[in-house]
Amino acid sequence: MSRWLLLLILFLPLRAAAQSEDDPCGFSLRKPGETAVWAYGTDALIADLQGWALHPMTHIDVIGNSTQGRPLYHVVITNPASQLPKKRIWIHARTHPIESESSFVARAIVEELLGGSILGNLILDHAVVHILPMLNPDGVALQNARENARGVDLESNWNAAAPEAEVQALRRHLSALMQSSTPIDVALNLHSAYNCKRYFVYHAAAGTSVLFTQLEQQFIGFARDRFPGGIEPHDYFVSWTSGTPDRYPESWFWLNYREAVMALTYEDMNCTAAGDYDRTARALLGAAGDYLGLTGVLGVDRMTAGSESPLLVEVFPNPVHAGGSITVRLAAEQAGKPLRVGLYDRLGREVVTVFDGEGPAAEHTLRIATGNLSPGTYYLRATGRDVQRTHPVLLLR
Ligand SMILES: [Zn+2]
Repeated sequence: MSRWLLLLILFLPLRAAAQSEDDPCGFSLRKPGETAVWAYGTDALIADLQGWALHPMTHIDVIGNSTQGRPLYHVVITNPASQLPKKRIWIHARTHPIESESSFVARAIVEELLGGSILGNLILDHAVVHILPMLNPDGVALQNARENARGVDLESNWNAAAPEAEVQALRRHLSALMQSSTPIDVALNLHSAYNCKRYFVYHAAAGTSVLFTQLEQQFIGFARDRFPGGIEPHDYFVSWTSGTPDRYPESWFWLNYREAVMALTYEDMNCTAAGDYDRTARALLGAAGDYLGLTGVLGVDRMTAGSESPLLVEVFPNPVHAGGSITVRLAAEQAGKPLRVGLYDRLGREVVTVFDGEGPAAEHTLRIATGNLSPGTYYLRATGRDVQRTHPVLLLR
């Protein structure tokens, strides 16, 4: 058989799949020889898990085993000291072994959560975040493109009479969480696609509901706001245009829980232009926080979303001892425009109105008496007509 004929036969079924809406990852056979992007193996995961396990907010366990007996590791992160009611966010990655970028995004999410950022802390105070970084460790170890050790694509195995071990373990675990007193609110299924774009797989109303599409658009809009120019609009990849399929994880969520779970596939870039995993992680976590109402009121996004405004020139001392006062130097940037400066608690309640009026014409100093505020983290926020700056302030005993 000629080499060309052999190639043609190898390519045919995959080409067909790449054009159907079954395959939002847009898989083609371009990849297997390209080892450079075939990264993040099981060893890399183990090394990461060892590091994450040292963090006091992290709990790591195994939800089951793969076909070949590899553990399906599961990382649970939350602030155990927070007594606030908590939401639940589920994230799993690497169903398709060739999509290393999905593992890099999962890793960046864990690192954002554990890194002490305002966004990370806020999410952990208000949510339990579950991350399963590698659903298909056998496929990764065997260097399969999309399948598990038995040659099955786990992504579309959810309607099988006897699903694969990996799907069974995941479904069992998700079912248990859904039956708990705090069921999953947001579920993200991380992949990476050959389109070389970042996007969500949007489910049309024909396969979901008009309400769900509104919620999807809201979620995707939040993610895009947090990564300007980085993530495609919601209608970039529209699926479920002729009904509800039953073979995907999102099908399982939709058929069982409808609008109660914002279940979406996110496709990172599967190409040499891939990167910016930290920004992607902040966009995804931030979108979850915004969607669940955990972050929006604080405007923490403006801190990381490229706001270069010097509106808040200086805030000191920080930390400040209870009873002391904080000095804030405001830039003249909003001269003559409406400007409000407030101190907010971690629930987004304004505890001190520091300034409310017309922006000063020259640099201006404000003083905040911490008086009867209890020790903890607060956020100083300045909101002008078209700019917002937020700065954390720590109040000590
Ligand atoms: Zn995929």
